[in-house]
Amino acid sequence: MTDSPTDEPRLLVRQVELPPGSDDGLDLSEVLASRLDVDREDVLSARLLKRSVDARSRPPVVRANIEARVRAGRRLLDRHRGDPNLVEAPPPKQAPVGHVRIQGRPIVVGAGPAGLFCALALAEKGHAPLLVERGRSVRPRWKDVRRYWRDGTLDAESNVAFGEGGAGTFSDGKVYTRRNDPRTPFILETLAEAADAPDVLVDARPHLGTNRLSRALFALREKLEAAGVELRFETRLEDVELDDERRVRSVTLSGERCETDAVFLACGHSARDVQDLLVARGVTLEARPFAVGARIEHRQELINEAMHGQAEVSEELGAATYSFAWSRRGLSAHSFCTCPGGEVVAASTEEGALTVNGMSYSHRLQPFCNTAVVVEVPPEDLPGEGPLVGVEFQRRLERRAAELGGGAQRAPAQGVPDFLAGRKSREMGPTSFRLGLESVELGELLPERVVASMQGAIRNFARRVPGYDREGQLIAVEARTTSPVRVLRDDATGWSVNTPGLYPVGEGAGFAGGIVSAASDGLRSVERIAERAR
Ligand SMILES: Cc1cc2nc3c(=O)[nH]c(=O)nc-3n(C[C@H](O)[C@H](O)[C@H](O)COP(=O)(O)OP(=O)(O)OC[C@H]3O[C@@H](n4cnc5c(N)ncnc54)[C@H](O)[C@@H]3O)c2cc1C
Repeated sequence: MTDSPTDEPRLLVRQVELPPGSDDGLDLSEVLASRLDVDREDVLSARLLKRSVDARSRPPVVRANIEARVRAGRRLLDRHRGDPNLVEAPPPKQAPVGHVRIQGRPIVVGAGPAGLFCALALAEKGHAPLLVERGRSVRPRWKDVRRYWRDGTLDAESNVAFGEGGAGTFSDGKVYTRRNDPRTPFILETLAEAADAPDVLVDARPHLGTNRLSRALFALREKLEAAGVELRFETRLEDVELDDERRVRSVTLSGERCETDAVFLACGHSARDVQDLLVARGVTLEARPFAVGARIEHRQELINEAMHGQAEVSEELGAATYSFAWSRRGLSAHSFCTCPGGEVVAASTEEGALTVNGMSYSHRLQPFCNTAVVVEVPPEDLPGEGPLVGVEFQRRLERRAAELGGGAQRAPAQGVPDFLAGRKSREMGPTSFRLGLESVELGELLPERVVASMQGAIRNFARRVPGYDREGQLIAVEARTTSPVRVLRDDATGWSVNTPGLYPVGEGAGFAGGIVSAASDGLRSVERIAERAR
């Protein structure tokens, strides 16, 4: 018999029911021994991988996936052959060996999730990159955003999208992704350590919230600097200079020219000046579909009642969330980025324009639940042509929204029953949106097909959440769901297809959507890069 834990196979035990109220002091080995019908002493190691709450059971049941080593594990596997919930854990994936050489010092543009993780990975390969960010570091950025949310004064370089942490900083902070990505554990471990939030490692739907994301950024900055990254805030990429073969030769950063043969462009999808620059430099871009609509806000109690069977928030279940989609006869819409216990916030980057989004703090204690109800817009449905047709459409919507709101970032809004009936609301109900709501007909803002799709979806969602169509309000405009452009890139090198040395990364490049997927794309972009000899 083998006694060393490492001699035994690693087991993956899924759907293990945990005892109620067992958050503190849970003896995982005991739970596992009972599930596998072995002695407690035969469980050599046990690690909680994922924990989820099945809110459909009454009372709700907490289940977990556990990785374990158990004495005589091979025999146990044989005995349970065919049981999908007890299998040998897959071997850890090896990172590919990089082959693309970088001669000079790489420059990473943008300190959002993609840029931060890209810079970290470059530093770990010995490249000591320069990471530049147009916005401010997290502390002064908070002041700028607070002022913006208080009185609508926008700083076009330091706001909800621009600054340390990128669009992730003031986001809702949900850090899960549907993709089964081998980079996710590293990203979550890094975030959990930086935010001092071990729960994100085991929750099935991990959530950090704006406050813990901001905290994580201080620790992440220290980690990057210790690894050899130089960070420069309030430094904007203004130009990319190419040689005769279209290879990157240098960049201009806030007026200063810097030579480099590798620029990792992680600018997010709100950097419209960068999109213009890429077009001007002949970099191949294409328009891609994205979604627009409005935020819908309800009482959190209404959602709790429908999803959890009780209005109040229980400690075990937290504030209830939802994710719905609907389609019928050529019309379709879906919910996007639901923020239980959260707020609807203004998230503009341009003067005279308004876009809204949703965020929350880690406690999720606001009495509202909001989500975007959005409709996909393919580029061929939009007036105009060229790779930036979607960006132009976004811009028109955002300017019209600001105009209808009446200025100072007040948002155009409509009560849900009135939106369904096609009439203006007499007055707006209670809201988390701090800059004020202006009652309008959203049909004056959004295209007919978008309005009809949203109406169909809301009526359908009301079958799952009774009252969904009878209360609450829509707050517009939600125009920045994902990137309306893609920078085409070569799979073997990671370069733009026609610009060697330019690495488009993250959401702005059109290859990610969300914090974890953008961070993953940042890591991925460096996997092809060879280590620098130290
Ligand atoms: C309010 C809100 C809520 C959200 N909620 C969630 C959520 O709950 N979960 C989730 O997964 N995702 C959420 N998102 C989306 C998520 O934040 C983004 O998908 C993610 O941040 C994209 O990462 P990125 O690094 O590709 O780009 P970004 O985060 O946009 O970062 C790009 C960075 O580049 C900088 N930059 C741009 N141009 C230049 C330039 N010329 N020179 C120098 N720097 C430049 C910008 O200032 C910015 O800091 C939310 C977004 C918002 C706005």
